[in-house]
Amino acid sequence: MPSIFTRIIRGEIPCHKVAEDDHFIAFLDINPLREGHTLVIPKVEVDKFFDLPIDLLSGIMPFSQSVARKIAKVVPCDRIGVSVIGLEVPHAHVHLIPINSLGDMDFSKPKLKFSPEEFNVIAERIKNA
Ligand code: 5GP
Repeated sequence: MPSIFTRIIRGEIPCHKVAEDDHFIAFLDINPLREGHTLVIPKVEVDKFFDLPIDLLSGIMPFSQSVARKIAKVVPCDRIGVSVIGLEVPHAHVHLIPINSLGDMDFSKPKLKFSPEEFNVIAERIKNA
């Protein structure tokens, strides 16, 4: 069965996309820790991050860098935190989270809620940064 992220890539499930190239796609996390919390995923479905082929492993950081710079331009924050977890969705991905303190990276905290319109506005601002 395809992962939920593969279904997003195929367009079967909607997402608030902020960037895409031939190998990667970035979209807003549906249950964000912070405004602008973004996921970067390879289009190829591989469960564990360190099982990615070396070309995707080495490509995901430059792609994430370009997305992180855009997020930092439009979301007030001290820096962009980076995390790889994968306990919920078995499709390798990088979390990019605008942070001001260590607590902003606490995945056990309650997540923020945004309306579809609010997600759209955030995604457009990042995309166009
Ligand atoms: P992890 O696998 O790294 O523990 O967490 C997966 C992340 O994917 C979570 O932060 C969760 O909110 C996000 N997520 C799960 N399902 C969806 C979805 O259908 N759409 C989007 N945009 N994010 C999702």
